[in-house]
Amino acid sequence: MKAVAVIPGHAHSVHLAELSKPTVDDVPGGRGVLVKVLKVGVDATDREINDAQYGAAPPGYDFLVLGHECFGVVEEVGAGVTHVQPGDYVTCTVRRPGGSIFDSIGRSDITSEEVYYERGINLLHGYLTEYFVDDAEFIVKVPVGLKHLHVLPEPMSCAAKAVEQLYEAQKRLQVWEPRVAYVTGAGQIGLLATLVLRLRGLQVYTIARGLAPCLKAEIAEGLGASYVSTQETPLSELAARTGKPDIVVEATGNSAIAFEAMELLGHNGAIVWTSITGGQRRIEVPADSININWVLGNKLLLGSVNANFRHFEAGIADMALGEVTYPGVLEKILTTPVDGLENYAEMMRLLVEDREALKVYVNVAEE
Ligand code: BGC
Ligand code: ZN
Repeated sequence: MKAVAVIPGHAHSVHLAELSKPTVDDVPGGRGVLVKVLKVGVDATDREINDAQYGAAPPGYDFLVLGHECFGVVEEVGAGVTHVQPGDYVTCTVRRPGGSIFDSIGRSDITSEEVYYERGINLLHGYLTEYFVDDAEFIVKVPVGLKHLHVLPEPMSCAAKAVEQLYEAQKRLQVWEPRVAYVTGAGQIGLLATLVLRLRGLQVYTIARGLAPCLKAEIAEGLGASYVSTQETPLSELAARTGKPDIVVEATGNSAIAFEAMELLGHNGAIVWTSITGGQRRIEVPADSININWVLGNKLLLGSVNANFRHFEAGIADMALGEVTYPGVLEKILTTPVDGLENYAEMMRLLVEDREALKVYVNVAEE
C-alpha cells in the first residue's frame, strides 16, 4: 500500500512510502477491525513533524506514516467485534496505552508517562495510507448522517475534551454558572470549541486577528457566537464591554497569546490551553500582575491534550446537535481537499502556505 511518511528528525522529508496491507488477525482475540481509509485530515502537528520539531518512527522503521485524523469504512471485523460491522463509517482514536494507571483505565489521554504512543505522531504509524487495522476498543462509529463532516471528529474530540475537563475542574467552586466565554484562535479547534460552548448555552466571543467579513467570522457567527478581530477591538476593550470572561479556551497555536490570555480571565474563572507549540520562543510577561490576579481571583489554568473514546463520542454527539441547531455551518471548516496520497507534496504545501485553509484533507479513496 502507498503511505505518506516522513523521516523523523529530517526536516521536509515528506515522501511516499510502502506498507504491507494489514489483516484483522493482526489484533489478537478476534478484536481486529480492518478499515478502508476514505479521507484523512492534516493539521499543524503534521506540519511540525515534517519540520522535524518532534515525532518518532515506530520501532523497526526509519519512517513514520503521518495522519491522525481519519475517516473510513469498515471492511472486515474479527469474531469478537460487535459495535461496528462492515459498511459502517468510522474514525479511530490517536493515542494508545502506555504503562501508567491512567492508561490501564482507558485514559491514555492523561497518561502520567513522559513517553506517549500516538498514531501518526509518535512511535506508531498514522492513517495516511490505504487501509489500517486496530483494536475495536479504539474504533469510533461515525453516524451516517455526519458522513459529510468526515475528518472533523478527531479535532472535535480534542475540543470536547478540553471543555469537559475545564467543567470537571471547576467543580472545585461548588457553585459555578459561567456566562461569558472567550475562545482565542479561530482555527479548527477554536471554531469547534466555539460550538461546544454555544451548545452549553454560553455567550461566546471567538477572537482572531483577521478582519470580518471572512470565513472564520462567518462560521463563528453561524454558530451563534460573536467574532472579534483584534485588529479592530483590543482585548481590553472587549473585556470592558462584555465583563471579564468566566472561561477562556486558548487555541491560537501561539504561546505568547496563551500568556496574554491569562490577563483577561475573571475571578473564579478557568482557562484551558490547547495549543501545541513545538518552537523555542521566549517572551517577557507581567509576572507580578498575573501572579497577584491569579491568587486574589482564585483562577485556574489547565492544559488539555488528546482525547479518548468517550471524548470522541461526546464530540460526535455535539457535532450532531450542532448540525440540527446550526445547519450547514460545520462543513464550512472543510475548506481544502487534495486528491490522492500521491499528491502529498501539494498537501504539505497547502498546510504550510495556504493562510486561508481552515482544514486541509486528503481524499484517499472513493467507497
Ligand atoms: C492531536 C492530538 C495529539 C496531540 C499531541 C494533536 O494534533 O490532534 O490527538 O494528542 O497533537 O501529539
Ligand atoms: Zn491534531
